[in-house]
Amino acid sequence: MKTAELERTDRVRLKALPPLALYVHIPWCVRKCPYCDFNSHERSGELPEKAYVEKLLHDLEGHLPSVWGRRLTSVFIGGGTPSLFSPASIDALLSGVRARLPLEPGAEITLEANPGTVEAGRFRGFRDAGVNRISIGVQSFDDRMLTALGRIHSADEARRAIAAALAAFDNVNIDLMYGLPGQSADMARADITEAANAGTPHVSAYQLTIEPNTAFWSKPPPLPEHDESADMQLAVENRLAESGFEHYEISAFAKPGMRCRHNLNYWEFGDYLGIGAGAHGKISFPDRVTRHERAKQPAMYMQEAAAAENRIIAPAELPFEFMLNALRLVEGFAPELFSERTGLSVIAIQQAVGEAERQGLLGRDLKRIRPTERGQRFLNELLALFLPGGTAARGSGDRGAVHAIRIS
Ligand code: SF4
Repeated sequence: MKTAELERTDRVRLKALPPLALYVHIPWCVRKCPYCDFNSHERSGELPEKAYVEKLLHDLEGHLPSVWGRRLTSVFIGGGTPSLFSPASIDALLSGVRARLPLEPGAEITLEANPGTVEAGRFRGFRDAGVNRISIGVQSFDDRMLTALGRIHSADEARRAIAAALAAFDNVNIDLMYGLPGQSADMARADITEAANAGTPHVSAYQLTIEPNTAFWSKPPPLPEHDESADMQLAVENRLAESGFEHYEISAFAKPGMRCRHNLNYWEFGDYLGIGAGAHGKISFPDRVTRHERAKQPAMYMQEAAAAENRIIAPAELPFEFMLNALRLVEGFAPELFSERTGLSVIAIQQAVGEAERQGLLGRDLKRIRPTERGQRFLNELLALFLPGGTAARGSGDRGAVHAIRIS
């Protein structure tokens, strides 16, 4: 094949660019939790807050030529434990972001907080810096479970953190986990009931999974049986529905109008810049969709001189990449969105959609294509149908594309 032909097969045609978000990674934690496979590092001594914020802004500057003329629809400061940074550092970060890239009016700005690192004054400081949404890593309201998970906070500290966050913010999320070591169905029900009644408009509930490169992987704790975890999942969904939460993504539940706009942008295959150690992003151009990624180790990231390099996503991989995100949404997606975000015709997915329908994994009406209950339960099998060249399994590699869904 000639070079010109090769280039053509590497290109797509996007009629409009998607919304643009910003993800900022703060990679330090007080202590590494034994189940955590995020890019988080136990802090030792004073954090280099000032130098790191300067590096983040330098990193952002390197991306600017790729996004000239665009506005940010949301910012998500995740980690690690971003609430370890002082309100003054978050203020410097957000002022620096605004000076370099305009934000849409009313843009959602989320900061992740660990209950062991916050009190009322700190929340007010984050609010004054411009943060308008807080995501609290509670995980459980049971001290026995928190100890089993190696968390640095107690259940009462989590309750106090929720109350303090709600005093300063309307928009607060609680992260909760179920299927924990030694957890019974009654204990999981008690946890989700307390979360549903906590007064926050958003709850994210994740089943604990044992990931490679974690302390739990080397020494697995005894976990509830598969059936018991499935019952817990059902209890989570029912309890939150009874309390008026809409289940809109596999693990995300929101009161009407309070869905996380930043995460929705990932799931709708929008664009996002990623800055900070190990952060990665996705940027579209009229003729291509690209990804970028930074060094994982904080020390290496701080020394990195060059701006992130963009890698073009091969058009053949775009259907899978799109589905990896969009099929997490309970309501699925409108077929036009596929073309808008990938620059490909829906013909590219027709065969796989048909096969998924035959297997009872997808359903569709005139407006949307959505995973059935079976499709939600067997998401990996469903996704495999969209891999380039067919149905070869590729494991559950969906963590990378949805890295902002955090448990902190
Ligand atoms: S789970 Fe959260 S708090 Fe625990 S190590 Fe990972 S990022 Fe840090």
